Amino acid sequence: MLIKKINELREYIQPYKSDKETVGLVPTMGALHNGHLSLIKAAKEKCDRVVVSVFVNPIQFGPNEDYNKYPRTLDADYELCTKNGVDVVFSPSPAEMYGEGFILSNDNLTYVCPPFNYTDKLCGKSRIGHFDGVCTVVNKLFNIVQPDFAFFGEKDAQQLIIIKKMVKDLNIPIEIIGCPIVREESGLALSSRNKYLSDKGKKDALVLSKILQNIKQCYLKGITDIDALKETAFSLLNDNVELEYLEIYNSETLEQEEKANNNSRAFIACRVEGVRLIDNIKLGD
Ligand code: AMP
Repeated sequence: MLIKKINELREYIQPYKSDKETVGLVPTMGALHNGHLSLIKAAKEKCDRVVVSVFVNPIQFGPNEDYNKYPRTLDADYELCTKNGVDVVFSPSPAEMYGEGFILSNDNLTYVCPPFNYTDKLCGKSRIGHFDGVCTVVNKLFNIVQPDFAFFGEKDAQQLIIIKKMVKDLNIPIEIIGCPIVREESGLALSSRNKYLSDKGKKDALVLSKILQNIKQCYLKGITDIDALKETAFSLLNDNVELEYLEIYNSETLEQEEKANNNSRAFIACRVEGVRLIDNIKLGD
């Protein structure tokens, strides 16, 4: 079932809720791939009913980001969802979500803003306001769908951590389930933005997962000094890959720790062929 209107979604979902069926929500921006599919499968296993939202959220993109050219493949997304037992694909327009006037003005919206010490680093540092946009839309989706469980990928680890924090701080009665990163055999983390890369770009992009694997191996061999771990990346970088950040933080709080430990996570962002790619790895087994 494809639904584009909020009130229709509510009407459709209501009988499930009345019958006490559990509802799982998988929020996405579409251009679905096997990474998204792993979230859908996890939701199918845990919940009676599964809703996948497909919405390219304008308020989480900066003015110079790829909102307009972000891949939109709703027909294929809908087919994939139907094949995989999704009950509802919810794909509202920006006007449906934010009101008709939104396109002209976004200065009259109530935002949900996560704490500064979760957003002043990693992707939040270069993408000012990005996580305000994410938390606001995820809150709206939570209020519209009212799921029991919501599924997010560790691929966007900072996002997952921030959503968990938001749910805790705002007493939202939804359990957040984090799902592992799905990768190509080469190691490249699946991403809708990989579509922008040439074959050569995809090869160059392997540097991200190689750097992370290398850091993990060094950690497992006993190196815990954070600068020393980060320095292992430099021999792998080349002119085709522009490093935006490489950091090691606590997996749950994003705090800087004195030494790497089993709870640490290494985070990387690079530009390859102008495409911004992110990846991360937990250091402990
Ligand atoms: P997006 O459509 O990029 O906003 O992603 C929707 C959800 O899918 C987010 O929770 C992502 O973290 C998750 N996701 C994207 N790529 C992957 C991947 N390679 N492995 C696991 N989850 C992913």
